[in-house]
Amino acid sequence: MQSAKRRSFLSSLICTAIVAGLSAAAPLAHASKDHPEIGFCIDDLRVERWSRDRDYFVEAAKKLGATVSVQSADASEARQNAQIENLISRGVDVIVIVPFNSKTLGNVVAEAKKAGIKVISYDRLILDADVDAYISFDNEKVGELQAQGVFDAQPKGNYFLLGGAPTDNNAKMLREGQLKVLKPAIDRGDIKVVGQQWVPEWSASNALRIVEDALTANSNKIDAIVASNDGTAGGAIQALAAQHLAGKVPVSGQDADLAAVKRVMAGTQTMTVYKPIQQIASEAAKLAVQLAKGQKPAFNAQYDNGKKKVDTILLQPILLTKKNVDVVVKDGFYTQTQLSSN
Ligand code: BGC
Repeated sequence: MQSAKRRSFLSSLICTAIVAGLSAAAPLAHASKDHPEIGFCIDDLRVERWSRDRDYFVEAAKKLGATVSVQSADASEARQNAQIENLISRGVDVIVIVPFNSKTLGNVVAEAKKAGIKVISYDRLILDADVDAYISFDNEKVGELQAQGVFDAQPKGNYFLLGGAPTDNNAKMLREGQLKVLKPAIDRGDIKVVGQQWVPEWSASNALRIVEDALTANSNKIDAIVASNDGTAGGAIQALAAQHLAGKVPVSGQDADLAAVKRVMAGTQTMTVYKPIQQIASEAAKLAVQLAKGQKPAFNAQYDNGKKKVDTILLQPILLTKKNVDVVVKDGFYTQTQLSSN
């Protein structure tokens, strides 16, 4: 071999060796399906229920041999995008997302899919995106329970509809369920909807301000408030209390937050919806591991997210009133001591 030719042959050998060495040293994406890596991107860990989701999810995933990296976007669209990008570049096997904004994750989900990563939409449906699966409690049913609870307590009069975050697809589904129940009474003229508003970021202080304004605008003549979760119900009840109306005006909620269950027991909140978080979190962990291993999960529904019909696991919510409040104790969601402490 001529020396120039040999040099180039040698250098190409060296190059191949370096590339091979590098790729062996670099973390291999999707290397071990026995121990899948899962990213769990939660919209906002500052909201009470999501820390339960995190704890149960991590526990269940660990038992299945997976590791989990948890991220909280703290209600920031940009932060959630960056966190997902980061998980993609780390080469995790599955990304489970509670979206802050259901409408803006299409591109980053496409990137994940291109990298061979499975994507699961958790509790809230990600719209217009190629997600592999969705898991949630039946949100339309939650909305029905909320409206029915308030309606049973106050079948006539002025209603205020306090919706969830406008960026959350659940807020829309809840409203659909609520209106399904209320529509006949609205059509009969028994119920007059005197106002309806979405609450940005589901924030209790936004809800407080909205209900204060609504009470002022209606000279306090509001007979019922259909609130879409317990946090916002808390804000609404604070506004009612300032007008000495707490306990007189029925208010709905969901999540069985500790403060809300206590309000239900005290009679200032009419009902809440108990969603066994351990169930959704452990089912989601199982789903993530199954997808990572290329197994076929058992779905029981499909939701059209604008891009495709998304295979879904739909779980059933439970109505919680003063009468069956012991359900949360029996289920280990709270201890009796937690419920009776001030
Ligand atoms: C969830 C509720 C929660 C709300 C605010 C909704 O998407 O379904 O359980 O209270 O978000 O975080």
